[in-house]
Amino acid sequence: MTIAYIALGSNLAEPLQQVSQGLDAIANLSQCQLLDHSPWYRSAPVGPRGQPDYINGVCAIETTLQPLPLLHQLQNIENQQGRVRSQRWGARTLDLDILLYGDLTLNTPELQLPHPRMAERNFVLLPLADIAADLVMPDNRPLTQLLANCPSGGIVRL
Ligand code: ATP
Ligand code: CA
Ligand code: CA
Repeated sequence: MTIAYIALGSNLAEPLQQVSQGLDAIANLSQCQLLDHSPWYRSAPVGPRGQPDYINGVCAIETTLQPLPLLHQLQNIENQQGRVRSQRWGARTLDLDILLYGDLTLNTPELQLPHPRMAERNFVLLPLADIAADLVMPDNRPLTQLLANCPSGGIVRL
């Protein structure tokens, strides 16, 4: 059993409904147990301009799935909720990123762990801290240190 943290995000087609439905779908995955989830946040988009704001949150699961099968299950949920991949960082109905999988560090083309851009994203770090305040990264940096070094604007807790 491994504890994994998953980031949820949406900025299309009723984002709050999308992330809630995504969370339900994660809770219903086989070999996964939902342990906790953060409150939802509204955040300004990164990437291409002119996109709607995002709804973001983080959940914790306990799983016996290996990292790649877990990623594929999450991509399956994204696809079921109508995710269309066009522009990099473009608007999307649902984005599910694996932030951490235990203390595993992985650097393959398909999957990098911890998520390589999480440290620069307050919309990931803030909800993560809500459910795992004492978390320490695989490289021994505490989450509190990442948060202290991350820009703090453009986000509100709902
Ligand atoms: P970002 O990764 O910067 O948040 P994004 O979520 O918009 O951008 P996607 O288009 O959803 O990017 O995913 C692109 C690819 O990232 C996926 O096909 C997947 O193989 C890869 N990937 C690598 N590491 C991870 C991870 N930890 N979680 C989810 N996907 C990952
Ligand atoms: Ca993402
Ligand atoms: Ca993604």
